[in-house]
Amino acid sequence: MNALVLHLDGIRVPVERAGSSRKARLTIEADGSLCLRAASDVAPDELEQFLISKRAWVYRKLSEKEALQHEPVTKEMVDGEGFSYLGRSHRLQLSDDATDVRLERGRLVLPRVKADAGAEPIIEWYRRRGEAWLKPRTRSWAERLRVEPEAISVADLGHKWGSASAQGRVRLHWATFQLTPALVDYVLVHELAHLREPHHGPAFWQLLTRAMPDYEGNKDELAQRGARLWFGETR
Ligand SMILES: [Zn+2]
Repeated sequence: MNALVLHLDGIRVPVERAGSSRKARLTIEADGSLCLRAASDVAPDELEQFLISKRAWVYRKLSEKEALQHEPVTKEMVDGEGFSYLGRSHRLQLSDDATDVRLERGRLVLPRVKADAGAEPIIEWYRRRGEAWLKPRTRSWAERLRVEPEAISVADLGHKWGSASAQGRVRLHWATFQLTPALVDYVLVHELAHLREPHHGPAFWQLLTRAMPDYEGNKDELAQRGARLWFGETR
């Protein structure tokens, strides 16, 4: 593995060698870090030039992102705190009888004994519930894309919404399940499409367009809303 890292005014820009396209692509990840993707035969000099030509774009994008991000969203495990699940808001209700976190009559019920455990019980609930929701969804999308995922799971993926391994394991971030079903579907379809097209080349986007013709709107909305989701920070 080539671990080339370039710098733009002191900002680290790791280079990911992938695909065969001569055209390099610079992206800003969900956490604001930069990544440059290019075929392995593009010379470092060329990549450096490309990066410099992108300087203005990088600063514009980073400042847009900062304006969106404000402070990280924090939650408090108290009665009335709001949690979003599949685009709907639910108030938290502490309960003396409940033994598990669950949705009940529109409320997210948290056993009082677990209220001191921080975000963990709630995150675990998103994880389990998200996995159950994903299973049938995955089946129908996988059929449409003609892929056969080996396993589907929900986990904490840091700054990534989803991942797909060469072995066919697809994972989604638990925080994704705060978004509307259409946006979770976008993340799911995106990762499933990677089982056929590992890289973000033209063939990948074509495949995505065929499966989900309106994907671009979802992609933009994910970029905007994603920055304001709750990622497990408590106060
Ligand atoms: Zn991707």
